Amino acid sequence: MSTRPYYIAGNWKMHKTRAEAAELAKTLAVQLKDGKHKYLVAPSFSSLETVGAIVKGTNILLGAQDVAAEEQGPHTGEVSVLQLKDLGVHTVILGHSERRHVYKEDDALINKKVKLALKHGFEVILCVGETIEEREAGQAEVVCESQIIWGLSGVSPGDLAKVTIAYEPVWAIGTGKTATPEDADAIHGYIRRVIGRLYGNDTAQKIIIQYGGSVKPENAAQLMAKENIDGALVGGAALKADTFVPIAKFG
Ligand code: PEP
Repeated sequence: MSTRPYYIAGNWKMHKTRAEAAELAKTLAVQLKDGKHKYLVAPSFSSLETVGAIVKGTNILLGAQDVAAEEQGPHTGEVSVLQLKDLGVHTVILGHSERRHVYKEDDALINKKVKLALKHGFEVILCVGETIEEREAGQAEVVCESQIIWGLSGVSPGDLAKVTIAYEPVWAIGTGKTATPEDADAIHGYIRRVIGRLYGNDTAQKIIIQYGGSVKPENAAQLMAKENIDGALVGGAALKADTFVPIAKFG
């Protein structure tokens, strides 16, 4: 059982019209009102304003799923930190496996986004995780270590307080396969030791490390019971209150 505060975040990916997003946000605002943990929802850019108006003043924070690496300028199709700030966004999810593997974002680009988001006062959820080939080759730890070192390169100890790490094994995302609580906890512990080496043990003990990868109401409590698992980044199960609320109120 972690002694750190739990942080449960929902990544809605490219789902929901504004009306659908509004309906879910309204339900969550009511049903999580008495929730004891830190909560975030990250709708598509197109629903940020709508959802932001609903969660404003509640215990649910507003997140974006990505941000451009540049502040502004000729970047067709991108959305900037200035525009996200204008919409009241609190946190930016960066380095999600779909950004890394489908949209080919590399560690240098992700690091640029991390530093820009922190410079503009956002909190960041930095996602790391290995593919199935990397896991089978015994590379899970080194892959996560390298993504952490690169992703946090140039991030000051002060700014690290605004960073949450999400360990999301790529093979577990949207597949229905979940890492066992023991396997996930082992990698979380390893990540915490990497943070300890980079920023010192006190900081390592404080940093929140979420698990992501087919988290469901049925497995949330077992995952959260592990010493180094401090919350969840939830995809599929975040799309319905019926599945997200029990995760958010696990235990
Ligand atoms: C995610 O997209 O961050 C995720 C963990 O998805 P899912 O919960 O659907 O595996």
